[in-house]
Amino acid sequence: MLKKLFAILALASSLGAGAQEKLYNYDFFTNSMMEGNYFFSNTSSKGNSFIAQQKNKLPVSGEFFFTPGNSLRLQYINGSTGTWRASVFHQEKRGMDFFRKPTFLSFHIKVESDSTYDKDLPLVRFQYTDSTYSKPVSFRVKKTKDWESVLIHTSTFGSELSYPNRVIAIVFEQQSKDGKSNTIYIDDIGFTVKEFFQPVAKAPQLLSAKGYAKHVDITWLKDTSSAIRYVQVYRSEEGRAYNPVGIQDAAIGRYSDYTGETGKKYSYKISYLGNDFQESPMSDIVAAATRTMTDGELLDMVQEASFRYYWEGAENFSGLAKENIPGRQSMIASGAAGFGLMAIIAATERKFITREEAVERFVKVVNFLSKAEKFHGAFPHFINGPDGKAEPFFGRKDNGADLVETSFLMEGLLAAKQYFSADNEKEKFIRDKISDLWLGVEWDWFKQYPNSKFLYWHWSPDKQWVINHKLIGWNETMVTYLLAIASPTHGVPASMYYSGWANQDSTGQQYRSAWGGTTDGSKYSNGKTYFGIKLDVGVSNGGPLFFTHYSYMGYDPAYLKDKYTNNYFVNNQNIAKINYTYCVENPKKYLGYSDSAWGLTASDGPFSYSADEPNIAQDHGKIAPTGAISSFPYTPVESMKALKNYYYNHGKFLWGEYGFRDAFDLTNNWCSEIYMGLNQAPMTVMIENYRSGLIWKMFMANPEVMIGLQKLQKETSITK
Ligand code: CA
Repeated sequence: MLKKLFAILALASSLGAGAQEKLYNYDFFTNSMMEGNYFFSNTSSKGNSFIAQQKNKLPVSGEFFFTPGNSLRLQYINGSTGTWRASVFHQEKRGMDFFRKPTFLSFHIKVESDSTYDKDLPLVRFQYTDSTYSKPVSFRVKKTKDWESVLIHTSTFGSELSYPNRVIAIVFEQQSKDGKSNTIYIDDIGFTVKEFFQPVAKAPQLLSAKGYAKHVDITWLKDTSSAIRYVQVYRSEEGRAYNPVGIQDAAIGRYSDYTGETGKKYSYKISYLGNDFQESPMSDIVAAATRTMTDGELLDMVQEASFRYYWEGAENFSGLAKENIPGRQSMIASGAAGFGLMAIIAATERKFITREEAVERFVKVVNFLSKAEKFHGAFPHFINGPDGKAEPFFGRKDNGADLVETSFLMEGLLAAKQYFSADNEKEKFIRDKISDLWLGVEWDWFKQYPNSKFLYWHWSPDKQWVINHKLIGWNETMVTYLLAIASPTHGVPASMYYSGWANQDSTGQQYRSAWGGTTDGSKYSNGKTYFGIKLDVGVSNGGPLFFTHYSYMGYDPAYLKDKYTNNYFVNNQNIAKINYTYCVENPKKYLGYSDSAWGLTASDGPFSYSADEPNIAQDHGKIAPTGAISSFPYTPVESMKALKNYYYNHGKFLWGEYGFRDAFDLTNNWCSEIYMGLNQAPMTVMIENYRSGLIWKMFMANPEVMIGLQKLQKETSITK
């Protein structure tokens, strides 16, 4: 189970090679995802000093900004007897862990009043990871009331700063004590490297604009030059003047402009911003209009946008999925990659891409996977794209095989093996290579002992079974047992489904109780009723929703029954309904939960990644769109309501270039800035399974899958 695994592996930080990784700028503020206040800040004041705040956080200004769409507003009184302070924190993102060595602290400032003198401005300090502070530094501006750039050499703050991530916050604090009130705006706080300051002489090349119900997607020719900081996007509405509306990484090649209005005409042009924020010449203009969309078109839109994570956002060398975007640029996540392959199949069938394009991608993928490092035929959790070697991103112990990730990858590959059925050289090549990969996985090796009851999650070539994590259900790993039983070359006995996955002895019971914090479902079967819904199988009251998604994107749960339930489709449906009903009741009274915002599951969060569940202890107030939307086959009406609410009412912050961002939390006024490889594809694939059953049909068409199923059914009748 994911949260256990993260706990085990969190001990060792990511020390992997990452030699080819792009170096990010270490930033503290560019834009707030949300209006109102900035989540990654805090304020305090004493005596007769004052700083304007909302919930002890800095207010966000959408009216004034240097980079669109907002800045931080510091409205303060330098009291004679007190002091005020405002801290702006670096936002840690998974995999954004390689940074340029900083030479300057850089920010933009706009002073509201020309009677603000240098001493009225705040002092600046660094706050370090050990909670100590640098010495305070003062700065000057020209007081033009225009935006001005401030650059302060990092050595000014005292000690040498070799690693930017020693600094967790930039702190602004009171300087004078003259009792005056001042307002300043601050934008684009970050460390910068002057060597990268060079003018960008060329204009970017816009390629297209396409209108949807409330947003327009524009695309440009991707650019990965280190001289470019951002693409800046300008919009003109109904022929009026152009205004800057957003910025984007030039290498993404796409910006989703959520205008919130239907039936409007928009034109766009873009420029590059260099590392010193100097602007390049403008691009040509593209135009599009927003329009009303049918339910079917909305489903297409969500499927296509999520699919693009795996298409446009794929790792360069392999064509496979990254862990999250933004994040590591050269690192493949095996399980997410398998999910992405199923999304590409759905996209081919929906004609988002041509079959030829899909075939080209799969040829690249199977070539890469054939050469990539494997351990007894199983893939590592993370693979370094440039050399195909295991990347121990979760720590040094996790430097070998990951059987669960491998089974997710195989799920996608086996679906593709049936989909690419044409009698031609390329599609035959894809099928043959997939056969080799599938038959090469030594599932039986992962028993650890000859007569083992369990399959084990990991194996390391130098540390062997050190992680020693047994696979015990109910959770996301059912497909691992099902594929291990189905393997014609390295199969395990079907009895392991009962001895391992559905284990009844104290090992299984303790594992499940530790996960759920309850004895409900500790013997695999549950039998209790939650919110009037009877649950045959499930730990606690069902667990996070990804349990009902990952194994069943390919494997059709309607085929599955055992001695504990007659139909896993119905069991999954009941888990989804329990999750839905819990969110509607919303016992912790979080903002935003409703019959159209529900679905607790594993996702990014304001404080950390967590696998949320529909109970008091595991409900942290964040909603991941993948929860409800990937449940489409189980709860089509409730899922559609959620999809429409997320897009029509929350799209301003939640919708972006790869569809819905990972999660949001209205109580904390937070929205994730990332998309996750494990969460985008399930939306595309499960909507497709709801609409046509395509991925289920393809995966189940593999003869070995059916033979494995028959073995399990025979075992079920023996043990019943
Ligand atoms: Ca900004």
